Amino acid sequence: MDDHDTKNNNSLTSPWYKKGLCFSCKKCGQCCTGFPGFVWLSPKDLSDIANFLQMSQEMVLEKFTRKVFHKISLIEILPSYDCIFFCNNRCSIYPARPVQCRTFPFWPHLLLSKETWDDAARSCPGMQTDENMVPYEEIEKKLQEYQQNFLP
Ligand code: SF4
Repeated sequence: MDDHDTKNNNSLTSPWYKKGLCFSCKKCGQCCTGFPGFVWLSPKDLSDIANFLQMSQEMVLEKFTRKVFHKISLIEILPSYDCIFFCNNRCSIYPARPVQCRTFPFWPHLLLSKETWDDAARSCPGMQTDENMVPYEEIEKKLQEYQQNFLP
């Protein structure tokens, strides 16, 4: 077992981010634009967006989403791959944005190790900052919110 394995194994009992992580969104929009991806919607996300837009869920599904692998994802505008709700350099449904967006970057696969976190930070200036230390408890809360949102 090398140092890398030891660090990641220890993180099972005492997560590597136990002392918190710095994150402060710079509102650059890079995570909403520029490359292909998926913003998965849970039934609650769909309901929140429909309420916010004062539309039926059926209409939201028809106008703003696509089916991928039997799941629902927001549409991207080609050729830029901007999220369909990204307008005038901001999220136009911000108060009702999906849990996936609200919990970023505290996603299970990004929190796996310092390496996965640093890797993701290369494309997010908000993760490269020394400002706004997010405490461990809050990270865990976001992580759980992300995980529970997609439970069947
Ligand atoms: S890439 Fe990071 S800093 Fe830029 S908008 Fe997304 S979360 Fe904020």
